[in-house]
Amino acid sequence: MKEPSKATKTVWGGEPRKLWEGATQIPVVMSVGYGYQDLDEWYEVAQEKRHGHIYSRNTNPTVQAFERKVAELEGAESATAFATGMAAISGILHTFLKPGDRVVSIKDTYGGTNRIFLDFLPELNIEVKLCPTTDHDEIEKEIAKGCKLLYLETPTNPTMKVVDIKRLSEAAHKVGATVVVDNTFATPINQNPLSLGADLVLHSATKFLGGHADALGGVVAGSAELVKKVYGYREIHGATLAPMSGYMLLRGMKTLALRIERQNSNARKVAEFLAGHPDIDKVYYPGLPSHPGHDIASKQMKGFGGMLAFSHKRGFDVLKRILPSLKYAHLAANLGAVETTVGVPRTTSHVESTPEQREAMGIPESLVRYSAGIEDPDDLIADLSQALESVNMAGASV
Ligand SMILES: *Cc1c(COP(=O)(O)O)cnc(C)c1O
Repeated sequence: MKEPSKATKTVWGGEPRKLWEGATQIPVVMSVGYGYQDLDEWYEVAQEKRHGHIYSRNTNPTVQAFERKVAELEGAESATAFATGMAAISGILHTFLKPGDRVVSIKDTYGGTNRIFLDFLPELNIEVKLCPTTDHDEIEKEIAKGCKLLYLETPTNPTMKVVDIKRLSEAAHKVGATVVVDNTFATPINQNPLSLGADLVLHSATKFLGGHADALGGVVAGSAELVKKVYGYREIHGATLAPMSGYMLLRGMKTLALRIERQNSNARKVAEFLAGHPDIDKVYYPGLPSHPGHDIASKQMKGFGGMLAFSHKRGFDVLKRILPSLKYAHLAANLGAVETTVGVPRTTSHVESTPEQREAMGIPESLVRYSAGIEDPDDLIADLSQALESVNMAGASV
C-alpha cells in the first residue's frame, strides 16, 4: 500500500491499535509513575531496551500518541512535546547553544522568540545575528561567517513574510549549522520544513494543531538523534506537556487536514475581498500574486495558510469602531482556532515598540492580523463588509 495521505494520518497517525479494554480513543493517562513487578523489566524500560514508561515528566502514553502523530505528519523519525510553544523554542535554543556560540535568525520571529534572542541569549555570551527577514543574500552572508544554529520562521507574524527554507538550509549545512524552523503558521498540512532540508521543525501546538484555543502545547520533530538531545533537556528542565492537554491536542488534530483546507480557502477569499475594498491600504497574504513572497511560498507550501493581515487607509483610530463591530471574530491574542480571530499588533504583540520602530519593521499603525476560522466564507466577508462600512455611514464620528 502507498504511504497514506495527511488526511488519513491526522486521523490514524501515531495511535496504537490495541488500547485499554478495547477503547477506540486514546485514554488520558493521568498516572505520574508506572509500576513494575519485576526489577529486570523496570531496568530494561529505564534503559530504553523495552517499550514502557517510568515517570510522566519524561514520557506519558497520551502525550506519546500526540508526539507520534506530529512526527508522522512532519515526516520525522521522532518528536517530543512541551508545555507550550515557547518552552519548545527555548528548549531547542538551550539544547544547542552554549557560551561562545553564534546563532543566525531573522528580525520577524514571533515576539517571545525575539525576546529570547535579544534579552536572554546575549547574557549567556551567545552571539545573536538577526537579519532583515527576506534579504536572502544578507542571511547567506551571515551564515557563511559561521554559526551553530540557523533559526527560521515562515510565514512570519504579523506581515506574512516568506523565507526560502531550502536555499537557507543548504547555506547553513555548508558551515555545519543545525537548521530549525517554526512551522506554526503554515502547519504540517501546508509545509514540511524537514523535506526542504531543515533539521528540526517546531510548532506552538496551541494554535492550528489543537485548533480550538483550549489547550497550550509545543512540539519539536526531527531525526531521532536530534530529538533525543532536545528531549534530554526537556526531561530535566521539566516543561512537560500535561496528559489532559496532550489528549485535547490529539483530539483537535483529528480534524487538522479538514480545518486547514477550509482555513486556506477562507483566508484566500477574505484576502481577495479586502484587496478589492476601497478603504483597505494593503493586504498581506502569501497566496496573493502581489505578495512579495508569493513565488517562494508557491514552491515550498501546498496551501498558503489561514493567516493574513491588512492595513486601513484611514489609520488606527477607525479600527476602534470597525473591529468591535465584527460579529464573527474574537478580538483576542490567539490564532489558528476554528473561530475567526483578529488582533492589532500596535496594541498587542508590538505595543512596546515606538511608531518609528514599528514603521522600521514594516508594521503600519493600522495593521490588523486576521486568523481565518472555519465559518462560511460568505458570512465572514459580509461581516467584514458591514464592519468596514460602519465608519463610512453619515454621522460616523471617526
Ligand atoms: C504562539 C506562537 C508561539 C508561542 O507559542 P505558545 O504556545 O504561546 O508558547 C511561537 N511561535 C509562533 C509562530 C506562534 O504563533
